[in-house]
Amino acid sequence: MTTRDGADVVIIGTGAAGATAARVLTEAGVDTVLIEEGPSVPTNELRGDLYSGMKRVWRDMGGQLAHGRSFIPILQASCVGGTTAINGAIIRRLPTEIYDLWRREHGFAFSYEELERVWDTLDRELGVAEPPDPVRGGNNRLLAEATRALGIGGNWIQRNVKGCEGKARCLQGCPTERKQSMNVSYIPRAIAAGARLYPTCRARRLQVKGGRAIGVEAEFVDRPGKSLFVEARRAVIVAASAIQTPLFLQENGIGRRSGQVGRRFQAHPGTAVIGRFDEKVDLWFGATQGYESDHYWNERMKFETLALPVELGAVRLPGVGPELMHQLADYGHLAQWAVQVRARAHGRVRSGLAGGATISYDPTDEDVQTLKLGVKRLTELLFAAGAREVLPGVHGLPDRIRSFDEIRPIDALPDDPRLFHCVATHLFGTAVMGTDPARSVVNPFGEAHELSGLFVADSSYFPTNLGVNPQHTIAAVAWLIAEQIANAPRR
Ligand SMILES: Cc1cc2nc3c(=O)[nH]c(=O)nc-3n(C[C@H](O)[C@H](O)[C@H](O)COP(=O)(O)OP(=O)(O)OC[C@H]3O[C@@H](n4cnc5c(N)ncnc54)[C@H](O)[C@@H]3O)c2cc1C
Ligand code: SF4
Repeated sequence: MTTRDGADVVIIGTGAAGATAARVLTEAGVDTVLIEEGPSVPTNELRGDLYSGMKRVWRDMGGQLAHGRSFIPILQASCVGGTTAINGAIIRRLPTEIYDLWRREHGFAFSYEELERVWDTLDRELGVAEPPDPVRGGNNRLLAEATRALGIGGNWIQRNVKGCEGKARCLQGCPTERKQSMNVSYIPRAIAAGARLYPTCRARRLQVKGGRAIGVEAEFVDRPGKSLFVEARRAVIVAASAIQTPLFLQENGIGRRSGQVGRRFQAHPGTAVIGRFDEKVDLWFGATQGYESDHYWNERMKFETLALPVELGAVRLPGVGPELMHQLADYGHLAQWAVQVRARAHGRVRSGLAGGATISYDPTDEDVQTLKLGVKRLTELLFAAGAREVLPGVHGLPDRIRSFDEIRPIDALPDDPRLFHCVATHLFGTAVMGTDPARSVVNPFGEAHELSGLFVADSSYFPTNLGVNPQHTIAAVAWLIAEQIANAPRR
């Protein structure tokens, strides 16, 4: 049985890109339909433990992997609100150095002034501010102290949160709807302005007529045999993320001319270092990610605090049996900080088994050297803050070290990504924009070179990685693409 609908614009995906585009279009009076593969999960169903969060909103329960010399988890959500539902709420603007590169070498269409206008509005609407004093928490305060002690730059993180209670659970889905993820901000706002949302519905086929995208066919993933067809009178926006957007384009034969769909996959692989303190840190209280340092940005690394629930943190603790129990009992004395690497590696995303993605990705030797240096510097920072011992989490080094000198042997280890417990959460570049149809998938305004009326508005469109957290840039670019669709003369 097929449900039929029709709208001016059909958007695939409800994350940072899709929801923002819907916010702009509906308030410009454009009739909009949103199709989302994942479920709509009421906040009261997220009990706060990681298992419920992973089961209900994380894609493949966090089991999506990139394959190379090592396996790197590629973490995403699949739910209404997309990955914003499980992200750390860190808000960063596009660094001007990256903006200049996009403008100079890829013909990026939007001016920095236009981006700033949108960021100012996003900041206002999503409550962007640094965490107030009462919810800063021990983990964040210690990194602030450490950067001061070593005389390196750092700052409280700007977060899209209204009235944070410091429950340190942003990655499980904020239990009190304080984080202004898209499921609690722009999706309800777009629906109030007339958008129609189809959750648990996976977009499969693009309908094309006369060289133009004219509709989307989708399947309800929880109701076998039930499908949806939405006619798109003006445009189809693909905002399914840097992993699923290329799959949708490949399945529909888009991008064959350039051969670039899925090709220039980039990321910020990251790893975390743990410090044990005599004083109580209480990793479970405070802004999940509240303090950051860009001091070594030119060396392609960024530091940030990272509170993890004990069930995920336990994976990184050494020992088994009584030893592990002892470590867990001491969890309240641990601090955890992460390094994100602006990696040089390029990977590839293709269709895999059962509609999933096959992701090939291998950090380069230089990326591994940056990870090593990042771990070394985080170790130095943890000792500077007064850590009694540090758990570097690097194969080939002791589980626990008592002084900075004990981290130095990291330099002699091979440049092998298997040394680290890496994850990647910032994903880019699988349907890149550019002026040359032989080398890019969409034009600088996001419209496919090969098919009019089809737009890509998520970070697939980004020609490079950013070196900073991407949600604000993704939202701003989606905003500007949507604005341009809304303002285009009707056919
Ligand atoms: C643990 C974690 C922490 C993070 N922390 C931060 C942070 O603090 N700050 C920051 O800036 N960034 C952070 N990020 C990254 C940020 O959340 C993402 O970059 C951003 O949400 C990506 O936006 P998007 O719209 O491209 O994709 P998503 O937000 O992933 O949304 C895509 C949506 O499309 C849906 N979809 C996919 N395929 C289909 C289909 N065929 N049909 C219908 N729907 C489909 C998906 O189910 C998903 O809901 C974090 C990410 C993770 C995993
Ligand atoms: S720290 Fe807690 S209360 Fe604050 S936004 Fe994150 S999950 Fe919500």
